[in-house]
Amino acid sequence: MRGASLRGCIDALLGGDIVALPTETVYGLACLALEEQAVDKVFQLKKRPSDNPLIVHVLDLDQAQMVAVLNPIAKLLCNEFWPGPLTLILPKRDELPGNVTAGLETVAVRSPSHALFRTVLKEVGQPLAAPSANPHSKLSPTNAKEVLEFFGSELPILDGGKCTFGVESTVLDLTSEKPSILRPGPIAKDTLEEFLGIEILSGLPRTKKGEPQKSPGLSLKHYAPETSVRLYSCFDEILGLEDLTSDDLIIAPHDGMIPLIQSSSPAKVLSFSKTDEPEEIARNLYATLRAADFFEKKLIHVALLRDTNGIIAAINDRLRRASTLS
Ligand code: AMP
Ligand code: MG
Repeated sequence: MRGASLRGCIDALLGGDIVALPTETVYGLACLALEEQAVDKVFQLKKRPSDNPLIVHVLDLDQAQMVAVLNPIAKLLCNEFWPGPLTLILPKRDELPGNVTAGLETVAVRSPSHALFRTVLKEVGQPLAAPSANPHSKLSPTNAKEVLEFFGSELPILDGGKCTFGVESTVLDLTSEKPSILRPGPIAKDTLEEFLGIEILSGLPRTKKGEPQKSPGLSLKHYAPETSVRLYSCFDEILGLEDLTSDDLIIAPHDGMIPLIQSSSPAKVLSFSKTDEPEEIARNLYATLRAADFFEKKLIHVALLRDTNGIIAAINDRLRRASTLS
């Protein structure tokens, strides 16, 4: 695909416009984080509800301090895991417009490792707000062509190839009593616990009546294809189904399983990977769900992966969000 030029994207950003940029997780819709009107444009283009905060992307600790207050634990984590797919929730600075954080007193900050995104951050010289480059509730794009299909050629898109991880960053809250993972991602809970030497909670904390939600966007069902998805707790359950028809579509973990299923079922079969490696499954996750939509079947059948370690927790989290039925 012939995307926009690097210079064109930088100039558009500095002029208060939106551009799509590659990151190592998924493609993002970027704008100047400190410009309220530019941020409004992102919410409008994505049709994102205004109570769903954006992640601010920074080059380094210095840019992070322009929008957030960093405590010693945050600095340790940044030194170890940045640049990379770790988003930290921190107290926000007043200079950051309230629409970025959907009115919350906290801000989500991360430093992406994708070389093109980093060049843009360096040239622009200030933080960029960048939610995933999909219309609200659709699957996140992991290559430039998918962004083009969503938003058309009016939007400048910097083509950085296929995303390395394919699922969104790990979101770690550092503003509550104990650190807690609000969204599992490529950096696993165990890795963070080992590094910090303390227990990390996972899941959204319960909020008291009248208190704002800790992470508004995460309560919504999203990351979903158009076709209904039924989720099973293991793949054997799908293998045992007897009433499937040609209106059904099964997504197997890897190519090796396809002949076995096809020999005994009229359902269409796709797979998430060639190798069965969790990293490859994550990289192909959204593109495979999009491909499944293409066949316009009545129901997509997928199963949680065994295990919860590494990136598997993130894959299973997204499969749960994609499913409407279980
Ligand atoms: P994305 O759509 O991938 O950009 O992810 C944004 C998500 O990060 C939001 O839907 C929230 O769940 C989470 N997030 C962003 N800012 C905050 C914040 N200040 N506090 C808690 N969660 C946040
Ligand atoms: Mg998103």
